[in-house]
Amino acid sequence: MSAIVKNLSELKKQISNEVTLIAVSKTHPVEKIKEAYAFGQRHFGENKVQELTAKQPQLPADINWHLIGHLQTNKVKYIAPFVSLIHSVDSFKLLQEINKQAQKCNRIINCLLQIYIADEETKFGLSFEEATLLLKSEELKQLTNIRVVGLMGMATNTDDDEQIRKEFKTLKRYYDQAVKIYPSLTILSMGMSSDYMLAIEEGSTMIRVGSKIFGERDYTH
Ligand SMILES: *Cc1c(COP(=O)(O)O)cnc(C)c1O
Repeated sequence: MSAIVKNLSELKKQISNEVTLIAVSKTHPVEKIKEAYAFGQRHFGENKVQELTAKQPQLPADINWHLIGHLQTNKVKYIAPFVSLIHSVDSFKLLQEINKQAQKCNRIINCLLQIYIADEETKFGLSFEEATLLLKSEELKQLTNIRVVGLMGMATNTDDDEQIRKEFKTLKRYYDQAVKIYPSLTILSMGMSSDYMLAIEEGSTMIRVGSKIFGERDYTH
C-alpha cells in the first residue's frame, strides 16, 4: 500500500461520513493525485489558480476541485468553467466577478465566505460584521449565478490548542447565527492537517488536509 493510500485510509477511519475531506494537493504532482483518486478520493483542493488550471485537464473529469487560496478577480475566468467550490471569497467585488464568469459558462458556482478568525496579520477574510452585511444585502440576491453555501476559516498557526479551539468555537458560533439570516449555508470549512480533529469537535463539516495525506511540501524547486 502506498503512503498516500495508507494516510487516506487512516484519516477516513478517524472522521465520520458527515465530514467532507478535501485532499489538498498543492505543490504535489498529478501522479500523487491519481493515487488518491484510485483509492476513491474525489475532492481535491489547490490554492493557486495557475497550478489548478495546469493539473485539472490531466486528471479525471469527475474530480471536485476546490479553490482554497486567495483569489484575484482577474483570475476567476480561468477556473469558472470547472471549479466545484471556492472557499476564499472575501469581498463582494469578487462575488460579482465569479457571478459574471459563471454566467458566461452557464453555471452556478458554489462559494464560501472566508472569515478572518486568526490572530495573524497575514490571513485574508471578512470580519463577522462584514459577512453579516454581505449576507443581508439586496445586492447579493441579484447574483443569480453564484450560491453562498457556507463559511471558511483558518485558525492561527500556533501550538496552542486552546487558542485554536477558541477560534473555531467563535466561527461556529457565528455560523449558527449566520444560518438564521441566510438559511442556504450548510458548509463550515475549517481544519487542516494540524488541527482537523479540533475543528471537527467544534463543528466543522469540511476539512482541508494536505501534508497529512501527501507528505511535507517542498517549495525549493
Ligand atoms: C495548504 C492549505 C491547507 C492544507 O494544509 P496542511 O497543513 O498541509 O494540511 C488547508 N487550507 C488552506 C487554505 C491551505 O492553503
